[in-house]
Amino acid sequence: MKDVLISALSENQEVRVYAIRSTDLVEEARNIHHLSPIGAAALGRALTASLIMGSLLKDEGSTLTLQFRGDGPLRSIVVISSPLGECRGYVGNPDVVLLEATPTGHLPVGKALGKGSLTVVKDLHMKEPYVSTTQLVSGEIAEDLTYYFASSEQTPSSVGLGVYFGKDLKVEAAGGFLLQLLPGASEKTIATLEENLRKIVNVTDILRKNDDPKAFFDACFGPLPYTVLQEKEVCYRCNCSKQKMERALLSLGEKGLQELIDDPKETTVHCEFCQKDYRFSQKRLLELQESLRKNKND
Ligand SMILES: [Zn+2]
Repeated sequence: MKDVLISALSENQEVRVYAIRSTDLVEEARNIHHLSPIGAAALGRALTASLIMGSLLKDEGSTLTLQFRGDGPLRSIVVISSPLGECRGYVGNPDVVLLEATPTGHLPVGKALGKGSLTVVKDLHMKEPYVSTTQLVSGEIAEDLTYYFASSEQTPSSVGLGVYFGKDLKVEAAGGFLLQLLPGASEKTIATLEENLRKIVNVTDILRKNDDPKAFFDACFGPLPYTVLQEKEVCYRCNCSKQKMERALLSLGEKGLQELIDDPKETTVHCEFCQKDYRFSQKRLLELQESLRKNKND
């Protein structure tokens, strides 16, 4: 099974569910960032959610950013996704180790993140991006996003996310779902959904039993008939390049570049998302500075 995101609609058109398998991409993120299990659980949950939320944006060039900031040892989680099914991200402290599990046996991501805020940025290529900040409810990611949907988007939703580790601490299953009530949902449908959701104790149990995100549909819809809509492959991908890093250097201006040129140490620009280092020689820095001067005189 590949990592995929699938959506489905109940036949009565009252509820929509997005389901995702993200096992491979969360394992890739764990390797790129050398994450501790709790770091991988936190980033994995956030990446998984960002892919679902990013797919809700209409324009292919748009991006969705989730920034979790807390006062706990993990400090922060930043993830970016696009409607094309690509995501990337990093955590403030990849080495966090907290030994005690939550009462449900999960890694204590909320404790690692602590108290703080969630900022959602939707860049839809308009003049100003849409930015919304809410308080973290528990720092457990899924609960924080459920609260975000209720308070900032006025959409009654339920988010389930999970990352499961094998004995070798590799990611063995990762995925989740977003269930959203559509306008006009009946009390009867809501009661059925609440009953179904109550039965989901462990999100990754569902994927471990059946390595197909469609299994989340059966769990969420229960007896409600539904139709599967779209299916899309998802992956971890960083879009950094030497050119982008040069643009960042140019934004320092002539003076800022001069400081780097005067510094005997080699200039490297680090990408937080893929951990790649880009090296720039004095000669290249002088060329960039010269191009700024030229543009000014034109
Ligand atoms: Zn990168």
